[in-house]
Amino acid sequence: MIGILGFIAVFGAGRWLGWPARWVWLMAWGWLLVLLLAHAPYMPPQLGAFVGGEFRGWFVLGVLAALVLAYRKMLGRVRGRVTVAEVAKSGAFSPVELDRYARHIMLREIGGPGQKSLKNARVLVVGAGGLGSGALLYLAGSGVGVIGVIDGDTVEGSNLQRQIIHADARIGMPKVFSAEIAMKALNPFIEVRPYHRRLDKALAAELVADYDLVLDGTDNFDTRYLVNRVCAAAGKPLIAAAITQWEGQISLYDPAHGGPCFECVFPVRPAQGLVPSCAEAGVAAPLPGVIGAMMAMEAIKHLTSAGTGLRGRLVIHDALYAETRVIGVKRRAGCVACGGA
Ligand SMILES: [Zn+2]
Repeated sequence: MIGILGFIAVFGAGRWLGWPARWVWLMAWGWLLVLLLAHAPYMPPQLGAFVGGEFRGWFVLGVLAALVLAYRKMLGRVRGRVTVAEVAKSGAFSPVELDRYARHIMLREIGGPGQKSLKNARVLVVGAGGLGSGALLYLAGSGVGVIGVIDGDTVEGSNLQRQIIHADARIGMPKVFSAEIAMKALNPFIEVRPYHRRLDKALAAELVADYDLVLDGTDNFDTRYLVNRVCAAAGKPLIAAAITQWEGQISLYDPAHGGPCFECVFPVRPAQGLVPSCAEAGVAAPLPGVIGAMMAMEAIKHLTSAGTGLRGRLVIHDALYAETRVIGVKRRAGCVACGGA
């Protein structure tokens, strides 16, 4: 009796307290081991009587449970394959695309419908520098249908330490065209729209209106505040990130769905020259890659409704000490950009 009660307690507590399934199963296996040991030949017979049952009974239960778990795991894998086959039947993707995106389609959280959402999505990336490099390449590889990229700079030798979307042979070329070459080389099934100019007030609203989601990886405050204002006014979600030296931060600003905007979180614009740029302060080469890849990750999650995004949460990554913190951020009453709440 105690033996059975033990299992009820483990699964009951797991459900009530929301423990991960892995912990619950580990504890259940541990309890089964205790029951088997209690019935082991060298143990006092009272102990076996106390937990109830007999060695053979608990052993058979363990074998049955292992078989059921193995069967479920196999079923899960088969289902993954069936999804790819079903997507093939739907005709939304060519066989080559299907093969290209198979690892996405296998994921329960993305699947065929999620991959289709990515194909139908239009994402604008502001800045084809360090953050843009990782973000643009992963958006392209993931199969985001239309990717706009705006940047007024040309590729310089000093960019190549970290801006890995560009190449030595393309020094002097506008960054957006260099990025387009790399993205199309990675995935010819997507459309890239390069805009070789700096984002300004006159253009911003019209451009943002054309896209479902905006990613901002620029390193100047004028553009960051402008992009936020335009996105907030248009009700478009904005994934904005920033880096300096060894530290980076990223969040999803989405006031249209209750989250804060960038200006809610950073209402006071730093004085001119107070926050040094990467050119002035330096930056560790892989840092924009880490944070840029996170931008693409959050974009894919947002577009496919997978998992929990960063609306209302700011991630701060300190690469020098390998520490990541997540802090809650809220809308600010009277925010001039989004109206607050
Ligand atoms: Zn705001």
